[in-house]
Amino acid sequence: MKIRLPDGKELELPEGSTARDVAAKIGRSLAKEAVGAIVNGELYDLFKPLPEGATVQILTRKDPEYQQLFRHTLAHVMAQAVKEFFAGKGYDPEEVKLGIGPVIENGFYYDIDAPEPISDADLPEIEKLMQRIIKRNLPLRRYTLPREEALTRYRGKDPYKTELIEDLPEGEEISFYEQEGFTDLCRGPHVPSTGKIPPYFKLTHVAGAYWRGHESRPMLQRIYGVAFRSKEELDHYLWQLEEAKKRDHRRLGRQLELFHIDPLVGKGLVLWLPKGNVLREELIGFMRDEQIRRGYQLVTTPHIGSLELYKTSGHYPYYAESQFPPMELEDGETYLLKPMNCPHHVRIYAMRPRSYRELPLRLAEFGTVYRFEQSGELHGLTRVRGFTQDDAHIFCTPEQVKEEFLGVLDLTLKVFGTLGMGDFRVRIGVRDPGSDKYVGDAERWATAERQIQEACDEAGLDYTIEEGDAAFYGPKLDFVVKDVLGREWQLGTIQVDYNLPERFDISYKGPDGEPHRPVMIHRAPFGSLERFIGILIEHFAGEFPLWLAPVQVVVVPITDRHHDYAQKVRAELEAAGLRVEVDERPERMNAKIRDAETQKVPLILVVGDKEQEEGTVAVRDRRRGERATRPLAEVVRDLVERVRSRARE
Ligand SMILES: [Zn+2]
Ligand SMILES: [Zn+2]
Repeated sequence: MKIRLPDGKELELPEGSTARDVAAKIGRSLAKEAVGAIVNGELYDLFKPLPEGATVQILTRKDPEYQQLFRHTLAHVMAQAVKEFFAGKGYDPEEVKLGIGPVIENGFYYDIDAPEPISDADLPEIEKLMQRIIKRNLPLRRYTLPREEALTRYRGKDPYKTELIEDLPEGEEISFYEQEGFTDLCRGPHVPSTGKIPPYFKLTHVAGAYWRGHESRPMLQRIYGVAFRSKEELDHYLWQLEEAKKRDHRRLGRQLELFHIDPLVGKGLVLWLPKGNVLREELIGFMRDEQIRRGYQLVTTPHIGSLELYKTSGHYPYYAESQFPPMELEDGETYLLKPMNCPHHVRIYAMRPRSYRELPLRLAEFGTVYRFEQSGELHGLTRVRGFTQDDAHIFCTPEQVKEEFLGVLDLTLKVFGTLGMGDFRVRIGVRDPGSDKYVGDAERWATAERQIQEACDEAGLDYTIEEGDAAFYGPKLDFVVKDVLGREWQLGTIQVDYNLPERFDISYKGPDGEPHRPVMIHRAPFGSLERFIGILIEHFAGEFPLWLAPVQVVVVPITDRHHDYAQKVRAELEAAGLRVEVDERPERMNAKIRDAETQKVPLILVVGDKEQEEGTVAVRDRRRGERATRPLAEVVRDLVERVRSRARE
């Protein structure tokens, strides 16, 4: 058989050769270094026979694909270690049954049906057994079996593997991977021996997982692990994990009394507490100011709409499974909880004839919408069932798309810049030229896609173009923002839409006196206020910049006799529009300072005899790391300016 190397060179090899043979043919040192291969764009190990005529690129430990190979082998090693673990407790290793064990981001898991529950406390012991298997450098072997033989092996002994084999399409190759003492039904690919696995891994936790994700099936135990090429990478990841726990918005939300989700009110429905509501109001105020400056008009629309409205828009029945069911009234009228604000805004546009002179028309609303999320999917503020979007719809002519995109980009960059989220990438989703699922004519699409790119170029943004990533109704642009922990969040989607104007048959009168179809642009820089605030809480670890902080200043009188002056300080700050508390509890000064720090209040002003006499305050500025005694009037002036300019700090 012939195979081709990436540089175009051809090699002649015997039938059934593998990537290992290719590496050996190229050279002895490569054969030693090889861990896998890319074969016709697909990840292979050194064991699997190559197809005739394949292009083969040999991988070594330097290649990023190496991670996938050793992470998967590590899942096998873990399964082997779990069997050894139970053998050590006197069980037959056969009693440990295996579900599936795939590679996931940063690591792997394996679903295991064990004779006894496995707890997090067992994981260090299992890790030790894994390290030992790696040290022994056991070679792996791959072989295939005919379907019947494979079934005979597992039938009556292992229901999971039996089912997996039965579900494989007829004619599919059934392969096994074996290392000394352990065999698994597996598609691969793997590293050639356990010694090729870097020993930098950690088992993180055990969780319940239904077999094949169905609640009616048995519950298995899923052991999760993370694995990296180097100790540095592992340590960094574990630090991130620890930091993420500390920053968890659900934990901080409770500690700082920002929001509450109450089972009696309902799952996924957020109750904003007074302090959390300050965040909401400040963000809304920020966005309102920026939008008004940019020619948006604010509207307000109801939380429900007639089912007819959503049938016209197509949101019903096409997205019915992500909506709350319709409400039927006695007189036959049917309503739907609003899953989207767009149809309401389209009807505002359509209320009377429109002229090109009115375009672009930019309608904005902090609109609350409701979506039905499975209860298992709900998560704090980031996955909820009711949320408020900083939504807007721009109705414009096809020629205006670029200008409008530029405007939205400018607004979005302003938002991220103000909040210190400067680390982002931009993705433009365009058509898949091979598909015919798209509405609107091809020429319009091409023009819009070009206009979006031109807008990005003009805004000086780097971007990637993702073919096939457009919605069926128009191209789009996403910002993917990295938070301080390096986690990525998709925010600030801008979406062109040819579909809704068509479905609602809206038009404008052009300069030619003829009716034309406007283009709609959906955009929401925050996305949802709930999710965005969840991300912000974690991004800032609850240490919000002054303008956002729910309580901006705590005044701490040293003793009772300073209460009057403390109240005077409060009154002056409040008169200047700042959010202030005075801590008059009969506690020691240091305890009060500590509590204000735990509540992450940006400024603590301590007042005692000297301050009272001189009309000053002893400032502890936690954001700027400053400590100084300054005249009260000067502090007020300074704080007001920082809030007004929404300083980053
Ligand atoms: Zn496997
Ligand atoms: Zn919309």
